[in-house]
Amino acid sequence: SLDEPFHNEADTDWSLPHNVRWARERVEAMRKAEPTFVPLQIGGKSTPGSATAEGTDPSRPGQVAYRHALGGPEDIERALQVAVSSRESWKNLGWPARAEIIAKVASIIASRRGEAIATMVLDAGKAVMEADAELSEAIDFADYYARSFSREGAFDGLACEPLGTVLVTPPWNFPYAIPCGGILAALAAGNTVILKPAPETVLTAWEMVNCLWEAGVPRDVLQFLPCPDNEIGRSLVTDPRIGAVVLTGAYETARMFLSWKPELRLFAETSGKNALVITASADPDLAVKDLVKSAFGHAGQKCSAASLAIIEAELYDDPGFRRRLRDAAASLKTGPSWEYDSVVTTIIREPGEALHRALTTLDSGEEWLLEPEMLNGNPCLWSPGIKLGVTPDSWFRRTECFGPVLGLVRANNLDHAIRIQNDSDFGLTGGIHALDPAEIDAWRDRVEVGNAYINRPITGAIVQRQPFGGWKRSCFGPGAKAGGPNYVSLFATWQNNGLPQ
Ligand code: GLU
Repeated sequence: SLDEPFHNEADTDWSLPHNVRWARERVEAMRKAEPTFVPLQIGGKSTPGSATAEGTDPSRPGQVAYRHALGGPEDIERALQVAVSSRESWKNLGWPARAEIIAKVASIIASRRGEAIATMVLDAGKAVMEADAELSEAIDFADYYARSFSREGAFDGLACEPLGTVLVTPPWNFPYAIPCGGILAALAAGNTVILKPAPETVLTAWEMVNCLWEAGVPRDVLQFLPCPDNEIGRSLVTDPRIGAVVLTGAYETARMFLSWKPELRLFAETSGKNALVITASADPDLAVKDLVKSAFGHAGQKCSAASLAIIEAELYDDPGFRRRLRDAAASLKTGPSWEYDSVVTTIIREPGEALHRALTTLDSGEEWLLEPEMLNGNPCLWSPGIKLGVTPDSWFRRTECFGPVLGLVRANNLDHAIRIQNDSDFGLTGGIHALDPAEIDAWRDRVEVGNAYINRPITGAIVQRQPFGGWKRSCFGPGAKAGGPNYVSLFATWQNNGLPQ
């Protein structure tokens, strides 16, 4: 109940054979199912939209995994009208009643955990355990945001006015938790919401919104509107009835939205080029374990992923350390997400220009510690790659590639390492592995990232414990962190209206 304090949801215990069996059965059933059709849902009515698109499974390129509707201008207009007309009733329902519904979302998601895992395995090529962790995060968002306002005593005496209708435009790499968190925060503050899911992962978004409706979120308060990323999508983003846009995506996308509409109220979490610093005082085994997890989890397709390790010279030059790192990465099983034990799974689509270059080309001074290979004849499946000799000014050091490639940079000392780490346009996550407390303090004082991690992986932020969001070009808007204490209040304006406190 909401009277109990927030606690984080536990991931599934994969040491128990019946849990492994349970996940395997769900995944198998999903794999064998006939391709479904996902409609739009506007004002509680399912409609086939104005066009149809195909959804793919990156483990089986070329095959149709499902089909989904795409909204056209008329669908957008209808969705906006419904979103506007349902504002009053949702706002007037009041905070405690909205919070009850949002808390209920957590239990509905938990009850459909297996289906949701299997959906992400099919739709996003996500490994079972990564999908499972994503569901814990979605449940946490619901439990946490449902308690948000009651905890925010600072707002006593102020009236909260929702922004109106919020458009949520999530990414494909966290296709469940990120849209779920954005929607619930906006709903909690009393807004109506239109979800435009990422085109790559419409099926996962559909699975998620159905949980929200089942929990009692009124259907005309939350609408499901896949639509193309062309001038049709643009008309939605720029419509004056949209009070705010929540985006997680590329820096360029955020810039594009603002070029369309400079006064747009945009809350965006954007790109990163994240590094883990490892000093000579680090425990090398722990550092290798956390680095490999941060670099290759979800095949490196996380904004938070480590794509650089900046290593103090003494350790960098140690052949034993290099061998350990290479062996740790080479031993990760690369395979389709269907196989329960795959760790490095498919990337969402064939490598684009930057990732292709990163996977296949060395720049001057670089060599492979571990050369990536394309597997199973599938251009979406690549084993992990590690580059030695990446220099502070090189192309790889500066370019976000979003795939299973890690570059190692040699630093003379900690001060040098921090300077390299901070010399970046982005500032999302960063980490240090060091056992010397003075080094940790010096690093913590200087590192320019939103999420700074010490002796732990730099991915996998936990709601409440590690509220998530970046600095510099990794963030647009006031910078309140997802899963943190002031996130819900982003979605409202506040009025001191003279009522007694
Ligand atoms: N919150 C995720 C993490 O901490 C990353 C989200 C993203 O990739 O946008 O790993």
